[in-house]
Amino acid sequence: MLTVTNPASGSTIAELPTDTPGSITGKYRAARSAQAAWANRPLEQRLATIRRFREGIVGHLERLAAVLTSEVGKPIRQSRNELNGLLGRLDFFLGAAGATLAARSVFDADGMRERITHEPLGVIANISAWNYPYFVGANVFVPALLAGNGVLYKPSEYATLTGLEIGNLLHTAGVPQDAFQVIVGAGDAGAALLAQPVDGVFFTGSYATGARIAQAVGPRMIRLQLELGGKDPTYVCEDVDVAAAAASLADGAMYNSGQSCCSVERIYVQERIHDAFVEAFVAEVKRFRIGDPTDEASTIGPLTRAPQLDVLEAQVADAKAKGARLLTGGRRLDPPGHWFEPTVFDQVHHGMTLMREESFGPVIGIQKVADDDEAVRLMNDTDYGLTAGVYTRDAARAERILAQVNAGSVYWNCCDRVSPRLPWSGVKHSGIGLTLSTYGIETFTRPKAWHLRAP
Ligand code: NAD
Repeated sequence: MLTVTNPASGSTIAELPTDTPGSITGKYRAARSAQAAWANRPLEQRLATIRRFREGIVGHLERLAAVLTSEVGKPIRQSRNELNGLLGRLDFFLGAAGATLAARSVFDADGMRERITHEPLGVIANISAWNYPYFVGANVFVPALLAGNGVLYKPSEYATLTGLEIGNLLHTAGVPQDAFQVIVGAGDAGAALLAQPVDGVFFTGSYATGARIAQAVGPRMIRLQLELGGKDPTYVCEDVDVAAAAASLADGAMYNSGQSCCSVERIYVQERIHDAFVEAFVAEVKRFRIGDPTDEASTIGPLTRAPQLDVLEAQVADAKAKGARLLTGGRRLDPPGHWFEPTVFDQVHHGMTLMREESFGPVIGIQKVADDDEAVRLMNDTDYGLTAGVYTRDAARAERILAQVNAGSVYWNCCDRVSPRLPWSGVKHSGIGLTLSTYGIETFTRPKAWHLRAP
């Protein structure tokens, strides 16, 4: 059985039967038999099911937001934001799938025609994270289904109720039961799923698990995508509106209690405005309201996973021991639930785990820099490369800096942002492959090359 716990109260909210290696084999076989018929349906029919899925989300939005908040502890307004954001992603996929998946004629002369078709991969494993289960799940299963794949979807054990809701909504919308199946369980269920002869693995989660999966799946020569963690930096130049930059970055660091893959995790500030920025940033952070995530006024909820409290405590202790200055927060709150105060340090350096390892919580370090070159060097001094940003009034300067930063997404005067129209990818330990944009539809297909000579 899988025990689902409310991270705000520590109380058990559900006990769910988990899948076994045997049941996972059964689901794989059923998906394999169902996939060809699903792929053979006209695209318009598959699009219609996703349109109805969208209607289902709209029709049940309040209930789905409440379920999400109950199991991951996300403040209720942020749960609604995630569901509303999902609608935008669905609209993108619904609008772009037709042209992206259409056969393309690339040559026609002298009796010879060449064309490209987009074949589904087959049956794919979609192993997902809990922090934005609608976003990271739908980035995979929606385009995968539209492209004609069967999907074995394993939600995180911390977002299983949401995963089951997704399954029900897709089935109600007309996706065949066998073509999309939810696997319930923790890492052992994920490993058992990967033992099946699937045609692709699409994983969102930590670098540690991603590395294990890469080792296990690598020799099988199947499509492997890993969307992993980050240690995302932002550089604040001396020409900014300090109050506006501080407000934007405090939100980028603390939204969803800092549990976003693209949360701002490191801030570098040009020395001339360092003190003013730090003062404004701390004032913004103190304005957040920690509290019951079902309360409309709460802006910081609990951490979803209890073990992360130890990670944050260790980062705080390490930073203090090495001379960082604690400006606010720094402590876990008493149970029940898994709570950590929004925490800000300055006088940090790269010898501290706070500036090197993903925090995935409401903890941030602010470091003073002398100039753009030092900022770029520090931004790139990381094992990760998901996003990076710069705040400045100067467009040319921003472009020069962002061109030198090694990250999948770069931001000018914004942060913690994902667009369905742009590819979402990371470099180094942030992963391989991509989702979103038209590339993130193509990635669920195999391009087939047709050489056609007329008789
Ligand atoms: P995690 O690695 O602990 O778990 C992710 C999933 O993998 C879960 O479903 C889990 O059950 C499963 N799993 C665990 N061990 C497995 C194994 N041996 N074989 C197969 N499956 C296994 O990560 P998490 O705590 O769920 O997510 C947090 C991490 O995800 C953070 O590092 C965050 O940055 C990252 N993330 C990245 C993105 C992105 O787009 N790059 C998006 C969201 C989250």
